[in-house]
Parts: sequence; structure tokens; C-alpha cells
Amino acid sequence: MYRVNEIFYTLQGEGAHSGIPAVFVRFSGCNLKCPWCDTEFADYTEMSAEQIVKEMLCSYDTPNERRKMCVLTGGEPSLQVDKELIDALHTAGFYICIETNGTRPLPDGIDWITCSPKAGEPPEALNHAVDRLALKKVNEVKVVFTGTYDPEVWRKKLEAEHWMLQPLRYNGEWLLMSGIDDFEIDSNDNLDDTVRYILAHPFWRLSVQLHKIAGLR
Ligand code: SF4
Repeated sequence: MYRVNEIFYTLQGEGAHSGIPAVFVRFSGCNLKCPWCDTEFADYTEMSAEQIVKEMLCSYDTPNERRKMCVLTGGEPSLQVDKELIDALHTAGFYICIETNGTRPLPDGIDWITCSPKAGEPPEALNHAVDRLALKKVNEVKVVFTGTYDPEVWRKKLEAEHWMLQPLRYNGEWLLMSGIDDFEIDSNDNLDDTVRYILAHPFWRLSVQLHKIAGLR
């Protein structure tokens, strides 16, 4: 049985698949405790692979579509996703994406891996965050640009086709917890800084939270 927090159908709002409709499966639990984490993943319902697929097909508006995308997320989905679930999703016709913090190995068969590595500690402990990455090769790396460390650090360890940088929006709480108190929390986001960084480091691409702009979940 898998511990599932929620299953919902929406548009992927972030990264290289922005704008594509997908069924999201949020798994309960995470192996990290990021101080800024605002994802509600504690509650769960125990479900079998068959029950998960059935509910995903019910939530997908066009269940007979040949290429259905799903996104396995959390929490940290690698704590639970296994071959049985991957096989069941492929049998149902799903293209399987996963969003992981990259600190745990993944089972074979996932079609698209997005690694969203977390610094997790103050910037001086960043090397530890890089060293604990278990993944080496992924499809996409997605990083929130905080302005407190150089995102290029992830390129020491990870190999990917797409490198996406997201502005930190309305998340001054974490900056305060990190001892950074000169950030204009109420004024705006750091979109301008993120764009400037990308212009100077053109390996990266801008990713905004399209689902929030579109008023979706
Ligand atoms: S890895 Fe993601 S889900 Fe886990 S604690 Fe950090 S922000 Fe939250």
C-alpha cells in the first residue's frame, strides 16, 4: 500500500513541461525537513497501485487519451514509488514524471526525472547538500533562485538536459530564518534578480509558477 496525500488533475506549472495537463499524485512523507517547506503532505490515505491508477483515470478528463502525463510528487515520492506502481501506470498509458529532491535512488522505468535539489542548510553547509545527492543524471534540474548562493553549485554533481531557475516568490520567511533580513519581503519577488542571473549564466532557463499565474492549484 502507498500513502497518498492527494490526486488531482491540473496543468503542470513549472519547468520544461509548463502548460501540459497532468494528473498529480502527491505522496505523503519526506526525508528532508526544509525550514521553508509549505507543502501539505502529512495527511494520507492508504491505497494500492490499482486504486491509485483507478482514481487517476477518474480525475483525468480524457482517460482514453493516448499520451497521458502524470507527475509523482510529494513530499518525497522516491520513499514510496516502486516498480509495481510504475508498471501499473505504464499499463494504463501514463507518461511518468517524478519530482524528487534527488537524495534517494529511483526505480527504473520513470520517463522524466525532475530533480529539485534543496540546499537545506545555510549556504556554508551547501557542500553537504551537494554531496548527499544520490542522483547523477536527470532530465531536468529545477532550482529556486534565492540569491543566497550560486545555483551553479548543482552542476558539480548533476547532469541534465534542462536547467530551470525559479524566482523566489513571497517566501521571505525562509530568508529571515537564514539570517537574511535586508530582503524586501513585502515589496515584490526576486524576478528581476533571477532574470539578471540567467542573462549572465545562459545555461539556465526561467521557470515561473504558471499554475499560480493562471489561478490553478
Ligand atoms: S524536500 Fe520538498 S517536500 Fe521535502 S521538506 Fe524540503 S521542500 Fe518540503
